[in-house]
Amino acid sequence: SIRQLYDRYRSVPIIYRIGIAFVLGSLLGLTVGEPATRLEPLGELFVRLLQMIVIPIIIFTLLMGARRLSPSSLGKIGSQIVVLYLATTAIAIGFGLLVGNLINPGIGLEVADASVETKEAPDMVDVFMNIVPTNPIGAMADGNVLPTIFFVIAFGLALAYLQDEYDVGTPVHDGVQTVFELAETGAEAMFKIVWGVMEYGVIGVFALMATTFGQSGADAIAPFAKLIGALTLAVALHIGFTYLLVIQWGLLRESPLDFLKGAKEAMVTALSIRSSSGTLPVTMNDADENFGVDEEVYSFSLPLGATINMDGTAMYQGVAAIFAANMVGQTLTLGEQLTVVMTALLASIGTAGVPGSGLIMLTMILTQLGLPLEVVGMVAGVDPILDRLRTMNNVTGDLAVTTLVADWNDKIDRASTVWTEVDVPTP
Ligand code: ASP
Repeated sequence: SIRQLYDRYRSVPIIYRIGIAFVLGSLLGLTVGEPATRLEPLGELFVRLLQMIVIPIIIFTLLMGARRLSPSSLGKIGSQIVVLYLATTAIAIGFGLLVGNLINPGIGLEVADASVETKEAPDMVDVFMNIVPTNPIGAMADGNVLPTIFFVIAFGLALAYLQDEYDVGTPVHDGVQTVFELAETGAEAMFKIVWGVMEYGVIGVFALMATTFGQSGADAIAPFAKLIGALTLAVALHIGFTYLLVIQWGLLRESPLDFLKGAKEAMVTALSIRSSSGTLPVTMNDADENFGVDEEVYSFSLPLGATINMDGTAMYQGVAAIFAANMVGQTLTLGEQLTVVMTALLASIGTAGVPGSGLIMLTMILTQLGLPLEVVGMVAGVDPILDRLRTMNNVTGDLAVTTLVADWNDKIDRASTVWTEVDVPTP
């Protein structure tokens, strides 16, 4: 019956349905050509739905993120972890941008009727100055992503401080509690809406791909392959350079191969389930059994890392931003690339370690840059592949930083682990 068919349809995970819509839409565009572009309004509807959720999702999720970050609750080890998490994420975005600039994955693709305003390149001082909103409500109303993020983090940190300053039972303490609960509920509600939007996304992505391939023909195939290749290369560079060469070999004087041996269960799990939060038990097990990290450290650093440390996800924003700029024939100025770094870095604080959340972050980045959100719908079709790479990178980064900070604080038993120290000549 229809009901059974519908249930069968719904039982397929949404991201695979979107993947199938991506393929079918592309095939339709390839076969019928130009007439397929008449489906464009259906794609535009999807884009509007995405636009609708950008600002509310920033507000709710970043409030939750800032709560976890409050320095008053972090302590010394916690602060070291947060600083290293942020520093490695910034490097990751750098690799993403570097590889993106080298490969220019989006060349050859066109967005139908891209309405991009050509802006004047802001100078460097302005780039930093513009992070601070003179009017936070105005920034939100105008959909200015970076200043909104800045204000919400400041607000969340202030709330977290107040919560500690006032005793339980006082109006302020309880009021803070209420605001955080509101944010948590708001975030949950937003994710419900996201899932609804994604249900429509099956149609939206189908229409976007039909339009794209109807317009560009077979030329549109290579960019998607290049996008996957670019992210793979950036992930390999970041793991190889930042985690293995600098952290493991350089700072810990340990063999990079041994680190991979110790982290492999978490890496493989992340590749298969596409969620750092879901991988958490395995990541913790690796930290404990393979690396000999004290529970005191990893029981804090790894859950925190699963939500705020997303090197792969943030790096992807760099690659995807260039992909999007290529599609509208723009090159990102240095200032804009710096904006990508800061937006992705700060947005990662509010992004959850669940499948596909990197796509939501992309709506923020593209909105900030004034690039077409159609790109989100288009890359959603290949996201099951990209998400695996991002998530694998994310959990590897959590372990790399955790082992380093544990070592700095003598909270690691390096003798009974996978590690065999390498002989690094000391000068
Ligand atoms: N799935 C990723 C994670 O859980 C987030 C993302 O979509 O990039 O870490």
